[in-house]
Amino acid sequence: DYSTPTVRNYELDRALITPSAKIGVGQFGDVYVGTYTLPKLGKGKNLAGNGKNSNSDQRNADSRPDVIQVAIKTCKANDDPEKTENFLAEAYIMQKFDHPHIIRLIGICSVMPIWIVMELAKLGELRAYLKTNSERLSHGTLLKYCYQLSTALSYLESKKFVHRDIAARNVLVSSPTCVKLADFGLSRWVSDQSYYHSTPTVALPIKWMSPESINFRRFTTASDVWMFGVCIREILMLGVKPFQGVKNSDVILKLENGERLPLPPNCPPRLYSLMSQCWAYEPLKRPNFKRIKETLHEILIEDSIN
Ligand code: ADP
Repeated sequence: DYSTPTVRNYELDRALITPSAKIGVGQFGDVYVGTYTLPKLGKGKNLAGNGKNSNSDQRNADSRPDVIQVAIKTCKANDDPEKTENFLAEAYIMQKFDHPHIIRLIGICSVMPIWIVMELAKLGELRAYLKTNSERLSHGTLLKYCYQLSTALSYLESKKFVHRDIAARNVLVSSPTCVKLADFGLSRWVSDQSYYHSTPTVALPIKWMSPESINFRRFTTASDVWMFGVCIREILMLGVKPFQGVKNSDVILKLENGERLPLPPNCPPRLYSLMSQCWAYEPLKRPNFKRIKETLHEILIEDSIN
């Protein structure tokens, strides 16, 4: 149940958090880079500790860094309980995951001004990174990013969690050899009807969506698989979005006609075959993430040999 608010022991002492430069603008408010000074006391199960322990764990502090870099998400609508609850929904979701390729929640400040403090992805958004470094990025590196994301998605699949917005815009770069899945916002846990039909200001990512998601707002792990196929293509295309120049309303017609996104340049045939399987019209005919992960691993090894 992803809607249960149980982040109490993720509460952080605001005095230990120092925001500095603004690094992004989110749906709810600005995002800042900053530092978090780890409390010297206690060894709670999260990075933050719960601040309730006494001095007895002081010696453990030596093995940890004192200050870590973080991303701090802020919320404009601090006085609107419905909005702040929606804002915090992302933190409630993120606290359930523990994976090297999923951005970690560090904690929250739940009293106004409300903050969500997360692991910082130092190199920012994947799409911008792909564009800036297009000359430098090897094919092997792009394949590695796809593989890393498949491990994160296989993990989410094992937890029966449906993401619903897998796209390169929701991937962040921690280092030149490490990408992480981000954005576990509102849309992922609110029911289709209340979110997608009553929030006309939020555009649906039609060009990434499976036919059943477009036609019936049906979101499952199999529709995540479809979206991941599109995300792989965006990565291989160095951040070029799918269906450029096509109207949203024409996308479903193309898909129903059996048309699919074309083969990206320099894409190994085996990888395009995998992407095409992700785009099987029938959800049940698509591979699951466990299999996708295994296949990507094989493709990665083949690529490194050749
Ligand atoms: P929202 O989902 O509420 O619209 P995002 O999570 O997309 O907001 O955050 C907005 C922007 O802030 C991102 O596009 C990215 O540039 C930056 N950002 C968010 N989280 C992080 C992070 N953990 N590390 C680095 N940059 C981040």
